[in-house]
Amino acid sequence: MAAQIISGTEISGQMRRELPPRVAAVQARLGRPPGLAAVLVGKDPASEVYVRNKGKACEENGLFHETLTLPESTSQSALLAKVAELNGDPRFHGILVQSPLPRQIDARAVYEAISPTKDVDCFNPYNVGKLALGEETFAPCTPKGVVEMLVRSGHSPEGKHVVVVGRSNIVGKPLVNLLVQKQKGANATVTCCHTGTPDIARHTRAADIVVVAAGRINALTADMVREGVVVIDVGINRIEDPKAPKGTRLVGDVDFAGVSAKASAISPVPGGVGPMTITMLLFNTVRAAELESGLGR
Ligand code: NAD
Repeated sequence: MAAQIISGTEISGQMRRELPPRVAAVQARLGRPPGLAAVLVGKDPASEVYVRNKGKACEENGLFHETLTLPESTSQSALLAKVAELNGDPRFHGILVQSPLPRQIDARAVYEAISPTKDVDCFNPYNVGKLALGEETFAPCTPKGVVEMLVRSGHSPEGKHVVVVGRSNIVGKPLVNLLVQKQKGANATVTCCHTGTPDIARHTRAADIVVVAAGRINALTADMVREGVVVIDVGINRIEDPKAPKGTRLVGDVDFAGVSAKASAISPVPGGVGPMTITMLLFNTVRAAELESGLGR
């Protein structure tokens, strides 16, 4: 039987339809909508696209949005001063500093400087610690998007063996932290594989659910999974394709053709985790505004 396609585009669309009453309630209480500030340092083309897409999503969903573009040569102290200014600016309930940052910037110090109450990416070590402890905090956007995709497509991780391939601070580790919590939509048995894992296939073949965030094409192939597995592909890789209109196209970390022949459900790239990441950013920004306005739930 053909695998069910877990469409992040569709699930994002459903989730975004939940936002208007929440945005309206914030507007009524505060006299202004939830607001997101994005800080872009330098001219990384991929970052420019990500930030533009996030801004567009804010506008489409009634959130206020501003992008602050700083030159590549921005000093650490100038960036920290900008973050401090945004922390105190009531128009913004969420602040995101787009990575990667130029070499002269200590990213850790920048994330630490973002007020935990505006840290909608969950990069501040204080919020990362709360996440690990299973305490209430902003859920990191990409990992939370993965969990929402699983739950809303009928594949809740609860009681399942989930193998996460990748251990970055942005995707792999926070996803592990979300999944192991004794909470609804989590409570999974979690294995994390990475470059130090001798035989990844031994683990992925035993999994009910595999989430791949390795940043490597074909990091998961058909021989590495069992029949009926559920697969979420976080990877985004651009490859040359002379047949594509621009000469390149996006693929994930999973050999989609091979793995989808064995999987019961699989997410595509594009149209999978990407739109979910932006949707979770909108949700976190609205939540930050609700908490500020006493509408927290
Ligand atoms: P990263 O490079 O920081 O981390 C990759 C991790 O995978 C590392 O921990 C490494 O140990 C592990 N790894 C690398 N090769 C491996 C292999 N062959 N087998 C097992 N583990 C391996 O990357 P990241 O920031 O976590 O991103 C991962 C991928 O997800 C990238 O393609 C990135 O573009 C994509 N991504 C997508 C979204 C989205 O919104 N869809 C968001 C963030 C990242």
